[in-house]
Amino acid sequence: AKHQGKNNYQLYSFSRDISSYKKFVLEKDMRKAIVNEEFELYFQPQVEATSGVIRSAEALIRWNHQEWGLVSPGEFIPLAEENHLIHHISDWVIRKVCAQLREWMDKGYTLRPIAINISPIRFLKKGLVDLVKMQLELFQVPAKYLEIEITEGSLLKSEKGVLSTLEGLQKLGVKIAIDDFGTGYASLNYLQEYHADTLKIDQVFIQNINHDNKKGNAIISAILHLAKGLDMTVVAEGVEDPVQFEFLKQRECDLIQGYLFSKPVPLETYEQMMQTGYLK
Ligand code: C2E
Ligand code: CA
Ligand code: CA
Ligand code: CA
Repeated sequence: AKHQGKNNYQLYSFSRDISSYKKFVLEKDMRKAIVNEEFELYFQPQVEATSGVIRSAEALIRWNHQEWGLVSPGEFIPLAEENHLIHHISDWVIRKVCAQLREWMDKGYTLRPIAINISPIRFLKKGLVDLVKMQLELFQVPAKYLEIEITEGSLLKSEKGVLSTLEGLQKLGVKIAIDDFGTGYASLNYLQEYHADTLKIDQVFIQNINHDNKKGNAIISAILHLAKGLDMTVVAEGVEDPVQFEFLKQRECDLIQGYLFSKPVPLETYEQMMQTGYLK
């Protein structure tokens, strides 16, 4: 019995060691990842509900790790937030998207806004407005083509610093979107205190859409109504099937983002989508 106990322990500690080993390696390698150009942006189109026309896209980061392959942001962003590399990553994303927009302008493409994700931790650090301003000027990109997505968590820490950062960005002409709306702990009060441009309904609500889910459907209808009343653009995230799409379209949801139209795709694929101009 003692022998078996030992084996069980080894098995357990072996799998635990893999994940803590991976965490250790990822954290170590993250420091070199920017210089080694291992990060890549994928793009997920946001489609106008009424027409299927691509209006904008969200840029989502991927990490091409030599050993582990494609690592999802769900795995390394929390690590980066712990060890503060999130600042470098955020700044890389801002620069990369500005450079990309410039390239599209030079190629003569019809420009569509790109939304990026900025961690609450980056938001609390000073200098974000200046950095964004500098990159927009450097690449000569009109600010309205950049949208910054923040979670309700960022607004919760709604000290003066965060609010003035948001307003500073909007003064530049950058759009602000509230991401994962409805899942955070912030109260509705901030919608009154602060005017964001866009509201993104979290996918947990979208997944609940169906014919029998009276409560779930009532909540989405209410969110859409609320956003209209506040004059915000509404994006539904994680739309995977036609029933969800029809529901949202009937209730005048502006933009649809989800696997029904497209997964996040690499740059070249997104460029092809841009040329075509619409999905469906
Ligand atoms: P998010 O900002 O809420 O992004 C939406 C996530 O939902 C993406 O996962 C996207 O691939 C996924 N998604 C989109 N449509 C569907 C759908 O129809 N069905 C399902 N099941 N999923 C869908 P992803 O790319 O793995 O990103 C996960 C999270 O990582 C993001 O959630 C965001 O919080 C974070 N993240 C991604 N890129 C960045 C970045 O550049 N910076 C920061 N700070 N965070 C990022
Ligand atoms: Ca997002
Ligand atoms: Ca989201
Ligand atoms: Ca999310």
